[in-house]
Amino acid sequence: MLRESLQAIKQRIDNQARLCHRDPNTITLLAASKAQSHEVLREAYVAGLRQFGENYLQEGIEKQKKLQDLSITWHFIGPIQSNKAAAISAHFDWVHSVARASIAHKLHQYRAATQPRLQVCIQVNLDSEPGKSGVRIEDCEDFVLLFSQLPRLELRGLMAIPMPHTEYSEQFNSLIRLKQLQEHLNKTYNLRLDTLSMGMSMDMEAAIAAGSTLLRVGRALFGERE
Ligand SMILES: *Cc1c(COP(=O)(O)O)cnc(C)c1O
Repeated sequence: MLRESLQAIKQRIDNQARLCHRDPNTITLLAASKAQSHEVLREAYVAGLRQFGENYLQEGIEKQKKLQDLSITWHFIGPIQSNKAAAISAHFDWVHSVARASIAHKLHQYRAATQPRLQVCIQVNLDSEPGKSGVRIEDCEDFVLLFSQLPRLELRGLMAIPMPHTEYSEQFNSLIRLKQLQEHLNKTYNLRLDTLSMGMSMDMEAAIAAGSTLLRVGRALFGERE
């Protein structure tokens, strides 16, 4: 079952990449594995997946313990509570959901010098939705400057969870703003942000067209969550 859905997702990626004149190898598939058991993650690993994204610290750590024998890259993709930042920094390879300066400072502070640098993305509130986590587009310039003082963090790019549009054109119009922001920041500050973490089960095609380099896919891979 998982094998088949993985095959179908890869086919969607290949088809859309071809339509967009993109190399499908420049698009990484991350399994958004919240609410899935460690057995299911192991099955996904055997099927070929190596990147897993978790939303909750405890749940993520428990799966990591059970899957220690596998070479998984662990991504934290959920909202970050201040009192969890230290443990998130210690246990994950990537954090996609950095949206507050105080959190960035904590992630930096608790990343051991013996570990590789923590790979981070800034979560952007693309549609300026009130109450939704993410840095507003207009505040991103100031926010990226912070990272020059945080050498244990490597700022890799931008992440977004746009409004759940069902129309392709609406999805695309929202997602393309993240691409434009990436280009603007790279040009203005001479950065080399190479990661656009966007695209989920329902908007993968629009995200690929808009330049996504990392799709976070849950339901299309594992089925509906309980
Ligand atoms: C759950 C989740 C996803 C995956 O969403 P699906 O609709 O299940 O593909 C992607 N990103 C984040 C941050 C999530 O929490």
